[in-house]
Amino acid sequence: MTESIPTQSQIVIIGGGIVGCSTAYHLAKLGWTDVVLLERKELGSGTTWAAAGLIAQLRQNQEMSNLARYATQLYSELEAETGVATGWIKTGAIGVCQTDDRRREWLRAAARARAYGIEMHEISLQEAEALCPLMSSNGLVSAFYLPDDGQTDPVGTTQALAKGARMQGVRIFENVPVLDIKLEQGRIAGVVTEHGDIACEYVINCAGMWSRAIGNWINASLPLHAAEHMHAITTPIKGLKKGFPCIRDFDGYTYFKEESGGILFGGFEPKAKAWGMKGIPSQFKFTELQEDWDQFEIFMECGFDRFPCLEEAEIRHLQVVPESFTPDNAFMLGEIPGIKNFFTACGMNSVGIASAAGAGRAISQWIDRGYPQEQLWPLDVRRFSPWQRNSSYLAERVTESVGMLYEHHYPNKQRTTARPVICSPVHDRLRDRGAVFSQIAGWERADWFASEGIEPVHRYSWGRPNWFPYQEQEHLAMRDNVGLYDLSSMGKFLIEGSDAGQVLQQLCANNLDMPVGNVVYTPILNERGGYESDLTVSRIAENQYFMVTAVGTTVRDFDYLRRRFPESARVHITDVTHGHSLLALMGPKSRELLSKLTDADLSNEAFPFSTAQQIDIGYARAWALRMTYVGELGWEIYLPTMFTLPVFDRIMEVGESFGLKPVGMQAVNSLRLETGYRHWESDITPDDTPYEAGLGFAVKLDKGDFVGREALIRQKEEGLKKKMVMFTLDDPEPLLLGNEPIFRDGQHVGELSSGAYGFKLGRAVGMGYLKNPEGVTNDWIKAGRYQLEVEGSFCDATMHLRSPYDPKNERTKM
Ligand SMILES: Cc1cc2nc3c(=O)[nH]c(=O)nc-3n(C[C@H](O)[C@H](O)[C@H](O)COP(=O)(O)OP(=O)(O)OC[C@H]3O[C@@H](n4cnc5c(N)ncnc54)[C@H](O)[C@@H]3O)c2cc1C
Repeated sequence: MTESIPTQSQIVIIGGGIVGCSTAYHLAKLGWTDVVLLERKELGSGTTWAAAGLIAQLRQNQEMSNLARYATQLYSELEAETGVATGWIKTGAIGVCQTDDRRREWLRAAARARAYGIEMHEISLQEAEALCPLMSSNGLVSAFYLPDDGQTDPVGTTQALAKGARMQGVRIFENVPVLDIKLEQGRIAGVVTEHGDIACEYVINCAGMWSRAIGNWINASLPLHAAEHMHAITTPIKGLKKGFPCIRDFDGYTYFKEESGGILFGGFEPKAKAWGMKGIPSQFKFTELQEDWDQFEIFMECGFDRFPCLEEAEIRHLQVVPESFTPDNAFMLGEIPGIKNFFTACGMNSVGIASAAGAGRAISQWIDRGYPQEQLWPLDVRRFSPWQRNSSYLAERVTESVGMLYEHHYPNKQRTTARPVICSPVHDRLRDRGAVFSQIAGWERADWFASEGIEPVHRYSWGRPNWFPYQEQEHLAMRDNVGLYDLSSMGKFLIEGSDAGQVLQQLCANNLDMPVGNVVYTPILNERGGYESDLTVSRIAENQYFMVTAVGTTVRDFDYLRRRFPESARVHITDVTHGHSLLALMGPKSRELLSKLTDADLSNEAFPFSTAQQIDIGYARAWALRMTYVGELGWEIYLPTMFTLPVFDRIMEVGESFGLKPVGMQAVNSLRLETGYRHWESDITPDDTPYEAGLGFAVKLDKGDFVGREALIRQKEEGLKKKMVMFTLDDPEPLLLGNEPIFRDGQHVGELSSGAYGFKLGRAVGMGYLKNPEGVTNDWIKAGRYQLEVEGSFCDATMHLRSPYDPKNERTKM
């Protein structure tokens, strides 16, 4: 180190892998040049140097695909800008399918790709062989071609990014490990190194597999774990086409690319090996782990099938290097909950080379603007709960995470490792009634109920899965009779204080200036008028509000609200999720049933829709909210957790004579879709406004100022460019799962944001945004003829401006 490190810098980046260097490069491009990057050893010496350098653009969702797409552009231009070769080559890629099910998955993927602007189409096996001579199509049923995928040299690209950053003033120091992070009143104040401290405003943790330990220094949760990751490289093979398209054989878990005239191959095995349980050795630098040919065997087998020339080839090297993986196989971006100005971009799940360009750009824009420029929720670090940094949980889950990339991505695919984590008080009662559980944010929730004699397991399919008939029974029980579901997992906050009402009124788009005992559904918007959250708020006392949000967004919503509370305001928020369970009793007979359990007057006059009361139920005292997410008469019953079991037993006992049915999450989802209720994350996001989402009823422009109001007023004046509508398929057979492209008079105008089977309607139902740069009016919408693309086929669909089931929402008010 020739230059001495400064005592002060606006931003300190920890980690000089490709992600840290890309972040430095993009910050500088945005004019943030008072940036110091500290690398404990040498640039790229962690995991980056070991990568195969493949850039696959199509990822599991649009957000990740957008970031990966940008890499193909940046890496092809960087050499001209910096003079450092990146080694970028546009080779194209071919995904091959060994089974019809995989082909069905890829047909859906190809439709997604087109929607994201990525070229991908099915080709014949002869065409595949012509594009990649020496590849065998034996045993294949289909192949898909992505001509714009490519590969880059990870080390060269990292150096080019670092050079680009330096050229604009960023200072990069190697051999300077960060030893600690300093906080002052919950915000970043500096970092500690053995060469001295650096005072700073922001820290960005880009430390790859070291990131979790770094987070732990200041009690920040970054759930990632390292696993052994490997590929082999052969000596040159005669007849191999130079720069042949990368071959991805998901069914064989293996990818193949050309490397110095030979084949480099490796992949994503279904049961991987966790690594680094006792920490990462301090000397780790360009380190390789012990070869493990047994672990590699699965790739060898596929290798011999796909490239018979491998039988004769000599393997020059088997390279095993640790890489970090997260519990859901998506990386982590954003500002860490609870700490001001502590950002991260880490946990790259073996797509860090492909994603670094986009991740660096996204995190820089986030810091620059104060919020992400593009929708990033699937990658947002706030999707994880604090407990998820638990090392046993991570070490077990990582053995499954590695394989998630190439596994069969069936709808509703569940994880099998590290379960159970969080169980509701009635978990065992539900299990005894046949519940088959799904997991979200660690919570075990009844997904559907197997009838007696039916094996309680998920059997996945692109067609109707094994739970379809049981979901139907639960769905119809709720519509025609009465059902009960346990949603104790919902996030619950208590917001109190003499300024609570005023503060919430400023944050929420609906009117919260309401009498005690009222409940309201409200959007929480950003300055652009987009949905940061949607939730229900009950005023339970003069200065007390009870807020309920989805389990997956609990951490995010809590953090968002707390950050937005003015420092001087007398308001306090407590997460009371684990102190309260939620049993939802819904359906036309719910009033009659609940009346047998309480002496409270449940009539419309005494207990109208959108109100809350404390009632006796069994021997407990509960908050009952007359709200619904399934479009029927019903009550959400919030109980102190320890009262839940006896109350549940009592409800089930009394419910027997009513034919009360326990209901799982699959049915709740199909019920909410049939009724047209939106789901934050799929249907409404920070990029969608309530007017676009068809939820203008929940916005009260005339109540006074609130976050997002100005943007909404502007949008009202200017008109909409997209609008959410609903569809039912005319043919009752096909299924809608979400992401299906929407065609209006043969023109592609959007995609479904979600879809399910509407059992009451007797056909698949979905919702999605119609987009038109010229403007979207109801007349324009009604004038179109619609089709949805389902697995490559065009299905006629009926468009609905309002929900096709109970369009006037009358059943909730019965
Ligand atoms: C065998 C293999 C093949 C792969 N193939 C591909 C591929 O084809 N395509 C693809 O996209 N990805 C691939 N990857 C994954 C890719 O290599 C990683 O996702 C990526 O390199 C992660 O980059 P990073 O910057 O997050 O981490 P790293 O490269 O590990 O960088 C983190 C840096 O932080 C430094 N650091 C840690 N602690 C401190 C501290 N306290 N102070 C200062 N510095 C610190 C470390 O020394 C390290 O250099 C592959 C990985 C492996 C192992």
